[in-house]
Amino acid sequence: NINEFRPVIRQLDDAAINRIAAGEVVERPASAVKELIENAIDAGATRVAIEIADGGKTLIRVTDDGCGIATADLPLALSRHATSKIDGSDLLNIHTFGFRGEALPSLGAVGRLTITSRVPGADAAQIQVAGGTMSAVKPAALRAGTVVELRDLFFATPARLKFMRTDRAETQAIADTVKRLAMAEPSVTFTLRDVSGGGEGRVTFRADRENGDLFNALHARLARVIGREFAENALQIDATREGIRLYGYAALPTYSRGAAVAQYLFVNGRPVRDKMLTGALRAAYFDFLSRDRHPAAALFIDCDPTLVDVNVHPAKSEVRFRDPGVARGLIVSALRHALAEAGHRASSTVAN
Ligand code: ADP
Ligand code: MG
Repeated sequence: NINEFRPVIRQLDDAAINRIAAGEVVERPASAVKELIENAIDAGATRVAIEIADGGKTLIRVTDDGCGIATADLPLALSRHATSKIDGSDLLNIHTFGFRGEALPSLGAVGRLTITSRVPGADAAQIQVAGGTMSAVKPAALRAGTVVELRDLFFATPARLKFMRTDRAETQAIADTVKRLAMAEPSVTFTLRDVSGGGEGRVTFRADRENGDLFNALHARLARVIGREFAENALQIDATREGIRLYGYAALPTYSRGAAVAQYLFVNGRPVRDKMLTGALRAAYFDFLSRDRHPAAALFIDCDPTLVDVNVHPAKSEVRFRDPGVARGLIVSALRHALAEAGHRASSTVAN
């Protein structure tokens, strides 16, 4: 009798909802690191310190000197769809990394999360959430800013835990995430430290406070993150078309790679992985590179936030342009122009 097996519809509780959302927001330790660094930057931090252990599986700790979270707001910061960054009235006009209010509740649903924070002129406080269960707010000691500590990621979701790769692979993915965000924010100092197994392994990307000029600061940061050789072989790009600005550095064809490993693309300051944009990069170098070589570049596309939708996926690494043709055309023409000019300069030097 089919009526006996009729399913019952019930409302899921918050913990279950957060665990489901976590599946999209937090794919692996590196995604947690990305969310926490973005929160630090959104809070106006000038220094962000990231500590990890065992590929981020047992510990991720992000310390910032940003604006802090008011004690009364700590439970709210851990609640789903609670954000200080938008009021929900204009989803096309977003100027912060975050806006969905999903990262902290998601992390608290799948790991053990402790947030300690202090706003200027008040005492520090701390809140904990583990596997979706929130503790009461209690007093804490902290000079300024925020410390977010995530332990035992995915302990509450064993199925996801099984998909973790080796510590080495997860550490690599975290380092890549830190690099991309460090390129996006040259005026912020980042340190990444692996505190497991003796605590060796530390990288610092120091902000040069003197380096006020956009291109100087970016060039110095790229030299540190991608490498000196890239910086020495990179052409400065700066072009604007129909309200979209493209700037950054693209390497000479002689500095090409055997794989597409040194291609960093940013849209409105956000690191993105986008087929249309990498396709445009490839097309720009078409006449300058053999088929088995890949261009190296760090390119920033800035435009009015209403011309691009970043709300395509919870991780926000995909974007959708209102007019993809303009962005593509801009990349192809600006890079071709720079490469042709560099080639022309090189050949005229040889002729002299
Ligand atoms: P979102 O970033 O989308 O707003 P999150 O879940 O990542 O959502 O964070 C929720 C809220 O907690 C933020 O809107 C912000 O007000 C606060 N917050 C999170 N991290 C920090 C931080 N490092 N410093 C200050 N405030 C923070
Ligand atoms: Mg966030």
